[in-house]
Amino acid sequence: MANIVAIVGRPNVGKSTLFNRLTESRKAIVDDFSGVTRDRHYEVADWIGKKFTVIDTGGFVHGSDDVFEEAIRDQVHIAIEEASVIIFMVDVTTGITDLDDEIADLLRRTSKPVYVVANKVDHAKLHHDSAEFYAFGLGEIYNVSSATGSGTGELLDAVVSNFPDEEEEEENQLPKVAIVGRPNVGKSSMTNALLGVDRNIVTDIAGTTRDSIRIHYNQFGHEFLMIDTAGLRRKSKVSEDIEFYSVMRTIKALEDSDVVVLMLDANDGIEGQDINIFHLAEKNKKGILIVVNKWDTIEKDNKTMKEFEDRIKEKIAPFTDVPIIFTSVTEKQRIFRVVEKAMEIFQNKTKKIPTSKLNEVMLEIIENYPPPSIKGKYIKIKYATQLPGRSPMFAFFCNLPQYIKEPYRRFVENKLRENFDFNGVPIQVFFRQK
Ligand code: GDP
Ligand code: GDP
Repeated sequence: MANIVAIVGRPNVGKSTLFNRLTESRKAIVDDFSGVTRDRHYEVADWIGKKFTVIDTGGFVHGSDDVFEEAIRDQVHIAIEEASVIIFMVDVTTGITDLDDEIADLLRRTSKPVYVVANKVDHAKLHHDSAEFYAFGLGEIYNVSSATGSGTGELLDAVVSNFPDEEEEEENQLPKVAIVGRPNVGKSSMTNALLGVDRNIVTDIAGTTRDSIRIHYNQFGHEFLMIDTAGLRRKSKVSEDIEFYSVMRTIKALEDSDVVVLMLDANDGIEGQDINIFHLAEKNKKGILIVVNKWDTIEKDNKTMKEFEDRIKEKIAPFTDVPIIFTSVTEKQRIFRVVEKAMEIFQNKTKKIPTSKLNEVMLEIIENYPPPSIKGKYIKIKYATQLPGRSPMFAFFCNLPQYIKEPYRRFVENKLRENFDFNGVPIQVFFRQK
């Protein structure tokens, strides 16, 4: 179940400002100039314990004004098909424009939840002005000021009411693996090679909602579900090559999986888009395996692999305890290794460390390297336990948890990794009051 919120609307209404507020990312550049290139357009957000991915569709529009309008219409179509919730943003200071009306026309045809957000309501006397947006016929208007954050809490309450509570831990479920990556890196080729058949599905059914396709893999002693996005290609001209569409599919597959296989082309290395996907997987606490494909096309000596690895790890830091496999699908090189590694990662992600073993190992390490004392106060860690959950989480109980700083948390995480093998798995370490 993917929780995806798409923010749509014409340029300059404040989409990226809201996006930054919801995701608290300070990275995106906000500028008065429309169509400015931004760093990151999708990010995990969290509201009252519910996680979802927010997409700023504005970040995917590049070019001149007329290109804009066409692209924005395409995006609204894609958002309607692929997102779970749509935020339609308008600007109270300009009122309704023709493009707003066009977008509203498209949105009236969907049964998905649509929230009309009147932005730039910076003070109370603008509240009345937003009443004109009722003319869209899309229901209630949410008055917000993305700049100050006012009104965003109410909006988020409404948005997350569409999402289920964190699902109970599913027992005995098959691992779910998604192969993601930019176009042409070899995802379909890999999928076909693993399954031993050509299963390139082309669909031309427009306007239907499709969830990711799950293929049951059960060969050579490994059983799992492959979340297939690679095979799913659209015939329709609209959105065929739109970056926004492929990102949307990727996010869906990622949210639906336990282990993400991030596939790269050895000729391109790891780039901005890949790093964004990597961080999204990390924040979503997914297992991660990096596959560098088309290794056959690279001229190499005995140092090439190490150099590649070092470069990738530099880019994905600080979470670098991630396996990297070099493959060639065409030469059938190390393909099965991908399956084996993905399954190892799933084991690492789901294993439970017995409390006695955890304490035996970790308390000794902590005794030898205790947290630094602060203002003459000594921090005593007494006991550790793994918390229940879908990914590894550890609580260390101590007298003064507030005095433990990030470097020490990282030290403890690294020791857990050294002693218990969480290769490919994000883990969380908490210090709590005993
Ligand atoms: P986008 O093109 O829809 O993503 O719009 P931006 O987020 O880039 O915002 C466009 C302009 O509106 C920027 O100059 C923002 O500073 C400004 N802006 C965004 N939100 C607000 C708001 O709540 N109040 C006011 N007064 N200005 C805002
Ligand atoms: P996708 O868009 O990620 O699904 O990529 P495809 O599987 O469609 O592959 C794109 C192109 O790369 C095709 O022409 C493949 O034959 C080619 N390709 C895939 N894997 C390899 C590989 O390991 N080595 C070489 N040389 N070409 C590959």
